Amino acid sequence: MISESRKLEKQAYYEKNRDKRIAYAKKYQKEHPKKARKYSREFYQRNKKVWGQYSKTRQRRLRAEKKQFIADWFLAHPYEYQIHRLEQVLKKVLLKRKRQAYWRKNTRIYRARRKDTFCNLSANQALELLTGCFFCGSKEDLALAHDIPVSKGGDTTKGNCFCLCRKCNSHMGDKDLSEMLAQVPLEI
Ligand SMILES: [Zn+2]
Repeated sequence: MISESRKLEKQAYYEKNRDKRIAYAKKYQKEHPKKARKYSREFYQRNKKVWGQYSKTRQRRLRAEKKQFIADWFLAHPYEYQIHRLEQVLKKVLLKRKRQAYWRKNTRIYRARRKDTFCNLSANQALELLTGCFFCGSKEDLALAHDIPVSKGGDTTKGNCFCLCRKCNSHMGDKDLSEMLAQVPLEI
C-alpha cells in the first residue's frame, strides 16, 4: 500500500514533468510501436472495469453539463426561448396532422379487415378514383363508395369502388349501385 504522502509526492512529480513524460511516451511509441501497443492493450485489460465506469460517469456528467448549459443560455435569451417553444409546439401539431392523415388513409383498409372483406386498393389507387361524384358531379367532399356495399360482403377493390360526394354517399346508404340506379328519377 502506498501512503498518502508518497502518493501526493508522485502526483506532484508527474505534474511537474508532464510535457517531458508526454514527449518521452510519444518517442517510445514511435521507436517501439509493437511493444507500445502491447503495453497499452495490457493496461486496458487491467483497468477495463474502472475505465468503463469512468467513461460512463463522465458521459453522465457531460450530458448534465450540456443540459445545464442549454437551460442557462435560454434563460439569458428569452426571445430565442419563445421561438424554440413555438417550434416545438409546431412540430407536435405537424406530427399529429401527419398521424391523422395516415389514419384517414388507412381506415378504409382497417374497416374492410374488421368486416372480413378483401381489400387490395392502395392509397394511390384510391386517390386516382377520386375524380368527381358519380351522381352529381361535385368535386368537393369526395369519398369512396362501394358498388356492392361492405355490409353485404362487397370487397374494397378497384372494380367494386367508385367515387361519390359525402352527400350522395349518405343518401346511397347501404344500397347496391343497381338498386340506386333503379330509382328513377334519382332522389337526391
Ligand atoms: Zn354527389
